[in-house]
Amino acid sequence: MDFTDIAKMFDRLESTSARLEMTAILADFFKDCNPDDLRSIIYLSQGKLHPDFYGVELGMADKLVLRAIAFTSGTKDSKVEEMWVKEGDPGAVAEKLIGTKKQMTLFSEPLTLDRVVKGLTLIETAEGKDSQDKKMKHLANLLHDSGPLEARYLCRIVTGRMRIGASTMTILDALSIAFATKEDRESVERAFNVTCDLGLVAETICRSGIDGIQRIQVTIGNPIKVMLAERLPSIGEVVSKMGGECAIEYKYDGIRAQVHIGKDSVKIYSRRLEDLTPNFPDIAQALREHFKGTEAIIEGECVAVDAETGYMQSFQEVTHRRRKHGMDDAVKEVPVRIFMFDMLYVDGKDMTTTPYLQRRSALTEWFDISDNVQMSTMRIVHSEDEGEEFFEEAITARCEGVMAKSISDDSIYRAGSRGFLWIKYKKDYQENLTDSFDLSVVGAFYGMGKRAGKYGALLMASYDPEIERFGTVCKLGTGFDDAFLDGMPALLDGYKTSKRPSSLDAKMIPDVWFEPHVVLEVVAAEITVSPNHTAGMGMIKDDSGLGIRFPRFTGRVRDDKDAEQCTTVQEIMEMYEMQAHDSTGIDE
Ligand code: AMP
Repeated sequence: MDFTDIAKMFDRLESTSARLEMTAILADFFKDCNPDDLRSIIYLSQGKLHPDFYGVELGMADKLVLRAIAFTSGTKDSKVEEMWVKEGDPGAVAEKLIGTKKQMTLFSEPLTLDRVVKGLTLIETAEGKDSQDKKMKHLANLLHDSGPLEARYLCRIVTGRMRIGASTMTILDALSIAFATKEDRESVERAFNVTCDLGLVAETICRSGIDGIQRIQVTIGNPIKVMLAERLPSIGEVVSKMGGECAIEYKYDGIRAQVHIGKDSVKIYSRRLEDLTPNFPDIAQALREHFKGTEAIIEGECVAVDAETGYMQSFQEVTHRRRKHGMDDAVKEVPVRIFMFDMLYVDGKDMTTTPYLQRRSALTEWFDISDNVQMSTMRIVHSEDEGEEFFEEAITARCEGVMAKSISDDSIYRAGSRGFLWIKYKKDYQENLTDSFDLSVVGAFYGMGKRAGKYGALLMASYDPEIERFGTVCKLGTGFDDAFLDGMPALLDGYKTSKRPSSLDAKMIPDVWFEPHVVLEVVAAEITVSPNHTAGMGMIKDDSGLGIRFPRFTGRVRDDKDAEQCTTVQEIMEMYEMQAHDSTGIDE
């Protein structure tokens, strides 16, 4: 397949923000693809060569891409850089400089999909002292035979920022339309939720239709999209929503780990599908040693504990394990325990459709408990009082709250979904604060006074998965220490874009726009209806959205979350209702 056809399809996607139109463009294109090509095209459309969890990314720095553009087009480095500062996107610079005066030389080769994949693989695997030069030359090699449009997308792919707006859900919609029926959409999504591999789902449905999709199973090595919890404003409501009886577990303040114990290796994935194995080698080893079978997928929370007292430490402590260097020291200095709370697969058996209580007893049967491998603390409660008592115990044990879990027969593990089978209740709710928000940075305003020349405030957005769009909720300017203020360009500038991101609705216009990527944790006093913000636009009042008042950065960069995993508009709406509920005194 010609890469030009793919680039043209990306261009058509980029020029619309209407989800239905994007779905139609994709479905049309998919129908004519062969299964192998389709798999690669899906990964490329996300700026990758592999599924998200693969661990190796193309991730070329913008500056290196600019060197390849300068080299290929014979333009001065300084001129290319100047254009980049203006455009904020190496892809846009490439489009202006590459292939415009193109002369086909004797050495030109057609730019096929195969050739692009081979070239990108060379970039990905370049090693050694001169690896940066090699990467630059492999990219220049592809750019040499590109037209402007192909160059735009090659440069976007290698930086991992495609900006074409086609989300996973839109691609799943298009696959269902191209190769199955609307009714099959749920099965297609389930296949994705249990494998987290969009390319695999695409290749399977293209090759073997919906029958193939239904044969896709939970597999060791393919992370499963995590199940999430709803929230309610009081323990009484939690217990009553659960039918008067439920399990309640401690809600630990650590890092969620999905552990795949294979025959030959153990892998730990974060909820964002990053490979955390290098950060928790002790936990990986302990789980292997304490597991009595051959293969399993389990979930638990990794929590830092005090080496002397064994007390649980705050989330901040366990993040020391996320550093890239000095891991041996960190393992010694920051002891970590895993509190297991779910089992999704064991020795050939998919447990995701087994009810909660059986999954939990399977965990206790298959694992020996030790100092660093423990079960989450759980009790079955039958009343609000019993729930409150357990909650107090959880807080005393330094947890952030409790997680109630349904004990009914339909309490299965719902991969990738947030529902009332699990309900969280945190200390924050009791203190009448809103929950913390994980918000995506979509813009920045230059500072004044002491902050002159720096970003002084950030425009923050939440995500609405129902319409697949981001909407702003606040301007954040508090809670930044000097180190954070100084580090902001390094954290954010890679996502700079010259115009409003196509997936964002905004009324406020910042000085600099960013593609949604970086997620920050924010606390706030109150949720209000705001004419200046666009999240949940019109849900409560026409032409107004939901805003959060007095937002403050907690210091926690949620690098374990993707922009799409930030607090959703629906969650903020629920919090708004909880707040309204408190103030009307309905509880009394
Ligand atoms: P939140 O991030 O506030 O939506 O809460 C969900 C997170 O709580 C999960 O992703 C886990 O990381 C964490 N968690 C802590 N303890 C438990 C538990 N016992 N069961 C399930 N999740 C838990």
